[in-house]
Amino acid sequence: MSGTFLGMPAFPRNAAAAVQDSQLRFNLRKATRTIRGKRAAVVGELPDWAALREAGKQIKDHTLRNLDRYLLQLEEAVTRAGGHVHWAADAAEANRIVAGLVEATGETSVVKVKSMATQEIGLNEALAERGITAYETDLAELIVQLGDDWPSHILVPAIHRNRSEIREIFRERMGEWGRPAPEDLSDDPRALAEAARLHLRERFLASEVAISGANFMIAETGTLVVLESEGNGRMCLTLPRTLISVVGIEKLLPAWRDLEVFLQLLPRSSTGERMNPYTSTWTGAVEGQEFHLVLLDNGRTAVLADEVGRQALRCIRCSACLNVCPVYERAGGHAYGSVYPGPIGAILTPQLRASGTVASRDRLPPSATGDLDASLPYASSLCGACFEVCPVAIDIPEVLVHLRARTPHPRAERLGMRAAGWVFDRPVRLARAQRLGGRLRRFLPRRLPGPLSAWTDTRDIPDVPAESFRDWWDRTEGGTR
Ligand code: SF4
Repeated sequence: MSGTFLGMPAFPRNAAAAVQDSQLRFNLRKATRTIRGKRAAVVGELPDWAALREAGKQIKDHTLRNLDRYLLQLEEAVTRAGGHVHWAADAAEANRIVAGLVEATGETSVVKVKSMATQEIGLNEALAERGITAYETDLAELIVQLGDDWPSHILVPAIHRNRSEIREIFRERMGEWGRPAPEDLSDDPRALAEAARLHLRERFLASEVAISGANFMIAETGTLVVLESEGNGRMCLTLPRTLISVVGIEKLLPAWRDLEVFLQLLPRSSTGERMNPYTSTWTGAVEGQEFHLVLLDNGRTAVLADEVGRQALRCIRCSACLNVCPVYERAGGHAYGSVYPGPIGAILTPQLRASGTVASRDRLPPSATGDLDASLPYASSLCGACFEVCPVAIDIPEVLVHLRARTPHPRAERLGMRAAGWVFDRPVRLARAQRLGGRLRRFLPRRLPGPLSAWTDTRDIPDVPAESFRDWWDRTEGGTR
């Protein structure tokens, strides 16, 4: 992933460029519709889905309220089981810890299980600076890495690529990273998967260090859980002699039995399956393998302090909100300028970055990310579809509106809103304004002047009625006369 990822221009400019790409729009529409349909079918099978969703929300909220206590419990349990726990306040510290651990093994390469947390902190780039090569082993992440590309979806990072593009990437780049793709590689999905399987198999067998994230951590037992579909995670977690897991502190669950809820919510919301093909759990070190857990804050504690915004920390990264979002479906993931695209990215990225603990690869002036982050809460029509499908009931529209209030607004808009607030504050003022508007309606402009024209360029001003509803009600006694 390029280091310029965090310095992209504001969302509207990114999105305007993306919607011109008809191939991208076609790929996204096809993929999101397919996943959306699968999700709806398997969620519809469960009569207690609403209760499960509420349980997921309650467990997450309870954990976040008691995060300090559960984190210490987790540390104790992992240490008791022979693992080593490291605390990282920000991306730079996490990268330093991981690079140091890899260097201590004497190895110069690692295999990786798909992990949003390591993308968030720019771990691959930080390792490369220390002469360590990180090999992605998830199929979609492999496509992104070989294509020198950026992920554009939480679950399917290469969702913007179709199979003929993937064939070209494999043919041109696979040989630079290890076993090359066959000369006569076709774009048949089975042939592409087989080429990736053979390429990765050599890498698994040659690697002594693996780096993973985790979907969940259990405070009570010190167990980490990874859900995946390809089996690459299982290979990384079990074969190498050193396993390093970098996990955000919000991924905690108090007890083993809480998994019962999340192992139903996550697969159905993400891949549209009843359960994941591979569910790996491990507790501390096992015989022949050293285990390190790096607990990552990187802005999460600051997000936790915000009463409205903190619900974003309930996210289990299922990506259901992306798949239903009309803005994401047209603009694609790159427009969000973050590893977290779509509706969850629009509320999580600005909050994490606002804490000042951004990824170490961000060497751009704050204004570059500032523009982007200020625009992200507006990357939504507020239709509410994201909230409807979220398995942990994050009210994304509520957080979007909350974050919009925080961003700087033009003076003309602020004055306009202040005037509107004054009018709406008293019923008598509102009634007078409505009567005045009704009388002057023929003279009202269709387009506002000056800087306010930006508002009417993209919106229709509704027709002002000759008589307000209140006046009509008074005159007709509620329509009875
Ligand atoms: S916000 Fe909700 S729907 Fe979106 S990725 Fe997170 S858990 Fe899934």
